[in-house]
Amino acid sequence: MAAGARSVFSAPYEPYLFDVTYIPPQAETFEKLLNEKGDTIAALILEPLVQGAGGMKMYSAETLKNLASLCKQHGVLLIADEVMTGFGRTGTFFACEQASIAPDLMCLSKGLTGGFLPMGLTLASQTIYGSFYAPDRARTFFHSSSFTGNALSCAAALASLKLWEEEPVLERIQAIEQSHQKAAEIFRKDKYVQDVRVKGSILALDISTPEAGYLSNLGTVLTPFYLENGVLLRPLGNCVYVLPPYCITHEELERIYNVIRRSLDYIRHAGSQQNDGSQRARLSGPAHC
Ligand SMILES: *Cc1c(COP(=O)(O)O)cnc(C)c1O
Repeated sequence: MAAGARSVFSAPYEPYLFDVTYIPPQAETFEKLLNEKGDTIAALILEPLVQGAGGMKMYSAETLKNLASLCKQHGVLLIADEVMTGFGRTGTFFACEQASIAPDLMCLSKGLTGGFLPMGLTLASQTIYGSFYAPDRARTFFHSSSFTGNALSCAAALASLKLWEEEPVLERIQAIEQSHQKAAEIFRKDKYVQDVRVKGSILALDISTPEAGYLSNLGTVLTPFYLENGVLLRPLGNCVYVLPPYCITHEELERIYNVIRRSLDYIRHAGSQQNDGSQRARLSGPAHC
């Protein structure tokens, strides 16, 4: 919680959270910080290549590589949170592979079980494992929980990992990426779409509307629209993103792009009606919830 963005979610715990310096994913900024107070920095925590819940923000493998090598140079641990990016999401099994780096600690969850059962893992390098390992019970790191290694979750994880061996998963992700790229070209032409990004199986677009007010909270307008049209999309602020399971078909993807295109027309329409002031109540009323 201390490492994540401070918000209404963390506010009640604020006094208990340790000090964190937040930086954008830029090697120059990190280097400057290390030069200023490197001896007080324990670790760099990042989401490699794509910052998910923060709005599907993407940065290059080169930047990731540079950040990792700065960590090495300054003896700062690198913690890669691959909960969202892991298991093929960005086009390689782990996002870190694209920068040819191996973090000291890695967090995994979501895709580990194919999203079917809850399971999380924290992987550590041998060095870190070694520093917690001790035959002397007084020094052993004993903490775990009742459901650690839950058998059903482990079975789901194994079944999901087996699919990687038996099926052409990476090829499927590449096919999804190609579809995304084609759709991105079309979305880029829409003047309501500010930025379109594709990475592996992720397509993200930022929507900017000139109409403030009613349309300022796009998620509350768009989520019901998407549900009514049979697709489960949950915008993050003004960012609409597609993060499909890898078994999705080409036709299903086309349907999603199509519903997103229609949602752009829908907000255009809603915006112009808001300007008349006449239809607002109907559009924001319960018919769309
Ligand atoms: C979802 C998510 C988490 C939380 O994962 P848990 O499965 O709840 O442990 C952490 N980091 C990222 C990047 C996520 O997307």
